[in-house]
Amino acid sequence: MAKGFEISTLGVRAGTTRSQFNEHSEALYLTSSFLFENAAQAAERFTGGAGLSGTGFVYSRFTNPTVAMFQDRLAALEGASACVATASGMSAILATSMALLKAGDHVVCSNAVFGSTVQLYVTIFARFGVETTFVSPTDIGEWQRALRPNTRLLFLESPSNPLGEVSDIAALAALAKKSGAALVVDNALCTPVLQRPLEFGADLVIHSATKYLDGQGRVLGGAVLGAKGPAMDAVFGFLRTAGPSLSPFNAWVILKGMETLEIRMLAQSERALELARWLEKHPNVTRVYYPGLESHPQHALAMRQQRTGGALVSFEVKGGRAEAWKVIDSTELISITGNLGDVRTTITHPATTTHGRISPEARAAAGITEGLIRVAVGLEAVADLKADLSAGLA
Ligand SMILES: *Cc1c(COP(=O)(O)O)cnc(C)c1O
Repeated sequence: MAKGFEISTLGVRAGTTRSQFNEHSEALYLTSSFLFENAAQAAERFTGGAGLSGTGFVYSRFTNPTVAMFQDRLAALEGASACVATASGMSAILATSMALLKAGDHVVCSNAVFGSTVQLYVTIFARFGVETTFVSPTDIGEWQRALRPNTRLLFLESPSNPLGEVSDIAALAALAKKSGAALVVDNALCTPVLQRPLEFGADLVIHSATKYLDGQGRVLGGAVLGAKGPAMDAVFGFLRTAGPSLSPFNAWVILKGMETLEIRMLAQSERALELARWLEKHPNVTRVYYPGLESHPQHALAMRQQRTGGALVSFEVKGGRAEAWKVIDSTELISITGNLGDVRTTITHPATTTHGRISPEARAAAGITEGLIRVAVGLEAVADLKADLSAGLA
C-alpha cells in the first residue's frame, strides 16, 4: 500500500491482499501447506525463495496469506519494513532473544517488564549462559553502568505495567548504538497508535497482539518488527525452524481487531484520563499512577513519546491488602481478571497476582505495595466505572 496514509486508514486498509474471488473482507486461509506448479517451483521455494521477503507460500509454520496480511498491516502501523508474527507476545520475546543472543552474551533489562519476560531471562536464558542485569526503567545512568563488552541486547517496556514508569527511548537507543547492542521495546501497552518506538531509534519492537491489537480478549498472538536486515532475518529463521507460529485463525481475528485499533485506543485513553483525574481527588486514594496526569513525574517525557497516557491506571488505597481487596470485591461491573487490553474494564491486585511470584522484598523495591490496584480501562461509560469503584472506595 502506498505511503502517506494516516494511521486510521492503515488500520482498516493496509496489508489486504485478495484472492481470485475478489472478496472485500480479508480471507481466512486455513491450510497447513500450499501446492506447487511443479518440482522445480517446489525446489525453488524450499531453498530460500520463501523467506521474509520471498514470494510464494510453502507451509503455514512460516508463510500463510492471512498471517502475511496481519504482518503487513502491523508493519505499516509501526513504520517498520519487516514483521514476523508469533503465537503470543512471549514467543515474540523468545524468538527475538534466540535470534540475537548466544551463550556468553549479556542482556540489560528494565526491572519493570512483564513478569514472564523476567522469568524467561532469569530461569531459562541463564541456563544457556546468557546473563541479565535488571535496571531502573527511568535511570539512564543505571543502564550505562550495567553495560559490558558482551552486552548484546537492551530490553524495555514503556510505560511500565502497573506503575506507568516511562523510559526515555531516544536516550536508550543512543546508548545501545554506542555500545553495539540492540534496543528492543515491548510496545504492547501503547500499540503504534500511541507510540512508535522505531521513530525514537529502537531497533526492534515487540507486540503481544493478545492485548490491544485484538482488543476484545479473544486470541493469543504476537509480533516482532524492525527494519529488513540481518536481525529480522534471524528472527524469521528462528520462527521457521522452531515454530512458535501465529495461527491463521488468530491472525484473522486480530486483523479484524486492528480495524478499530485507533478509535479504541483513543476512547479508552480518554476514559482512563478521566478516571485517573477522579481517583486523584478521592479522599481514600493516596496515589495515582498514570502518565497522562500532570502530576506524573515523567509526564513531559510521556507526552513527547506517546499520543496519550494509555489505558492503564493504577492507584493506592488507604490501608493495605484488606482495603484493596475490598475495593476489588465490591465491583459488580468491572471484571476481576489478569488480562488487559480488552474493551471490558478489568481490575487486579498486582501484589498477589501478576507480581505474586516475586519475593516481598523485590516487590516492595519495585513499588508494588499491598494497597495497589490496577485498572485496565475499557469502553464502558466512565460514570458507570466510577460508580462501580465508589462502593468499595467509600
Ligand atoms: C501480555 C504481555 C506480554 C505477553 O504476551 P502473551 O501474548 O500473553 O504471551 C508481553 N509483554 C507485555 C507488555 C504484555 O502485557
